[in-house]
Amino acid sequence: MIYLDANATTPVDPAALDAMLPFMREYFANPSAGHAAGRTAARAMQRARDQVAALLGAHPQEIVFTSGGTESINAVHASVRSLWPESRELIITGTEHAAVIESATRWRKNGGTVVHAPVLADGRVDLEALRTLVKPGITALVSIMWANNETGVLAPMREIVEIAHAAGALVHTDAVQAAGKVPLDVKSVPVDFLSLSGHKIHAPKGVGALYISKRVRFEPLLIGGGQENGRRSGTENVAGIVALGVAADLAQQHFNDGTKARIHAMRDRFEHLVHAAFPDMRVYGSLTHRLHNTSFFCLPETDAAGMLILLDKAGIACSAGSACHTGALHASHVLEAMGVSARDAACTLRVSFHRFNTKNEAETAAHAVIEAAHKLRAEKGDASMVITT
Ligand code: PLP
Repeated sequence: MIYLDANATTPVDPAALDAMLPFMREYFANPSAGHAAGRTAARAMQRARDQVAALLGAHPQEIVFTSGGTESINAVHASVRSLWPESRELIITGTEHAAVIESATRWRKNGGTVVHAPVLADGRVDLEALRTLVKPGITALVSIMWANNETGVLAPMREIVEIAHAAGALVHTDAVQAAGKVPLDVKSVPVDFLSLSGHKIHAPKGVGALYISKRVRFEPLLIGGGQENGRRSGTENVAGIVALGVAADLAQQHFNDGTKARIHAMRDRFEHLVHAAFPDMRVYGSLTHRLHNTSFFCLPETDAAGMLILLDKAGIACSAGSACHTGALHASHVLEAMGVSARDAACTLRVSFHRFNTKNEAETAAHAVIEAAHKLRAEKGDASMVITT
């Protein structure tokens, strides 16, 4: 199989796996326990906290381990909603992940107001519109993703923070897709909260982190035994956390060793080959502010569901422009927010590369896409001939 669905999840890095296994075998103790074995687990978590903090330019005490991106996002929205009742508005964009959109729905159900900042046709938030929407004393939180999971479009986070903070509003960013792909530095881009997920950066599923700036107050979502300094109760997933720490460390190392340029070249080679065969190919999202690993493209007159079946048969794993939630295909709300027609959205595919992919795989996948698209177009042509005769 050629796995080109890294934005859905990434393979666990062997080094992260090696680091976590001892914490499932011999060092299994509860990190809150007072004995030596417990202290070993606690020390390993502290190291992981340092590693995650280093990836973000944060202080280790500002890192809370969670079960993943969804929990981190929910925790931020719930906390701000309960601690800032006087400011009632949450601002998001229409291109956010379901975790943000659904927790915004809950915000509304709990008596708050949710305002959608528009995005431009290239998927980037309309900063001029945002400026008019953020209101002192009214806006509590601006929650905008750093990088989009479908298009890979990168948000102008620095400007978003400036606009929100000037009005006294807090900023959360869902950095689940940006982490490990672009440098994230909370000192130069001083967001108040940032959500991370392990399985998007070559750590396992079911572990993540939440950065909470020491400037802001926080009310925990999960209460109980008071772990994570009272900010997230529940016995920690020590093995997963150790792997997350290693993955964060590796991500930082790979910023400086040519990995990004190699993945970028693979993605561009893929797009070049497909575009050469189908000049009507359309790539969605800003071409200049886009993750280097993501290609979200439409081949008109091909049906994405049919393409996925053919590609799956050819051993290529990728996904459709229709976000796949628990296996069901829905029209992509991201493309809808960008003003793309439902017809074009229905022929959109996403390929997303990771550091274990090769140029050869990118080329093989491009040829498989080309072959599948020719086949579907030929079938469509045949079908229309039948209708017209
Ligand atoms: N945010 C974005 C942008 C994502 O791509 C995902 C995962 O698909 C999430 C949040 C949710 O993260 P998790 O799967 O760790 O709950």
